[in-house]
Amino acid sequence: MTNLKPANRIQDYLVFGEFGDVNPSITDSSTYTFLSAEKMEEVFQHEIEGCYLYSRHMNPIGHYLSDALALMENTESAHVTASGMAAISCTILEICSAGDEIISSRTIYGGTFALFQNVLPRFGIKVHFVDILNLNEVKAKINEKTKVIYCETMSNPMLEIANLQELSKITKNCGAKLVVDNTFTPMLITPYNFGADIVVHSMTKFINGSSDAVAGCICADKEFITSLKDVNNGTAMLLGPTLDSFRAASILKNLHTLHIRMIQHSNNALYIAENLEKLGLRVIYPGLKSHPQHELMKEYLNPGFGFGGMVTLDVKTDEIAHNLLPLMQEKLVGYFAVSLGYFKTLFSNPKHSTSSEIPEDIQNEIGMTGSIIRFSFGLDMDIERTFFRLKESLKEVGLI
Ligand code: PLP
Repeated sequence: MTNLKPANRIQDYLVFGEFGDVNPSITDSSTYTFLSAEKMEEVFQHEIEGCYLYSRHMNPIGHYLSDALALMENTESAHVTASGMAAISCTILEICSAGDEIISSRTIYGGTFALFQNVLPRFGIKVHFVDILNLNEVKAKINEKTKVIYCETMSNPMLEIANLQELSKITKNCGAKLVVDNTFTPMLITPYNFGADIVVHSMTKFINGSSDAVAGCICADKEFITSLKDVNNGTAMLLGPTLDSFRAASILKNLHTLHIRMIQHSNNALYIAENLEKLGLRVIYPGLKSHPQHELMKEYLNPGFGFGGMVTLDVKTDEIAHNLLPLMQEKLVGYFAVSLGYFKTLFSNPKHSTSSEIPEDIQNEIGMTGSIIRFSFGLDMDIERTFFRLKESLKEVGLI
């Protein structure tokens, strides 16, 4: 365990509540008083440390959570949003205008894919979808209009690992920004250390960890975060995706246990992945030697947190997937539900749910058939018992 820096930085982040409370006070206000007209004018013109004007712009607890996330991602600054999609859309619209182009991995969360394919073109922004592992394909799409190269550190749901360092070189050469969605690998990987310019998260997943909130964040340099909050031009200010202060407070508390949760998610996922592979099944898990980017991911890992909680399993036929999903729920393996990063195990069939927005030809190219099941392994203490239940389910549907 040599590089626990993201966890250490969060541990050392102390904020005191109004009465010395160990948790910061929750500001239950949309607006803030001023004692002089000059001060209010000044705050409207530029941000002043410790001064708040209106909670859509920023509220104190949102600020504390943002600071903690910036520490985790090793960026100068951060901004929290009401969802992961808000973080992604505000980031893209902050950088791109009509006529600009984006080069995006084709293996991304279905909602992001739909935003890029269906919404951005309505504003004159063109997106090229590429195989992000094929750097020549990425380079071939670059032109003077390229403003963003976009990928997920670990892709949803095929769990490919992006070559962040090479993508960063390519991005810098063309003067664009490398935007990386780090939702699957908080703590494990710090994309900024490998050249990402902007790191986004759906905090709905591992960061919050209790599936009771929808939230997102954008981590970047101070200049970019300040521009997002600009009262005249900032997308985070003007599109209005504000994270409620009560949610910001609960997520901040959960963030302080993220390091321990990630270790347990990873240990459980590795145990299951190894054992499924021993049964002769096709398992995709970056912690397995059989994963094509296993060595690359090792280079990127903050050691000690493992390879993450996500496992993708090919159950051979659509029919088996169809029968297996509710059966695993019956046998208490976990919940048949979308989303991930919850303390219980969640599983779903991405082709028919979270990745259904991706056109069928691309689904086929990336190998995302109806027989692919994505698991997010929970914090089970007794993972041998969970594996036994999973194996019983596999037997019952005739897979083993
Ligand atoms: N990014 C990834 C990798 C996701 O899996 C998701 C949602 O599943 C999102 C972004 C969108 O996040 P949210 O649902 O919080 O808007």
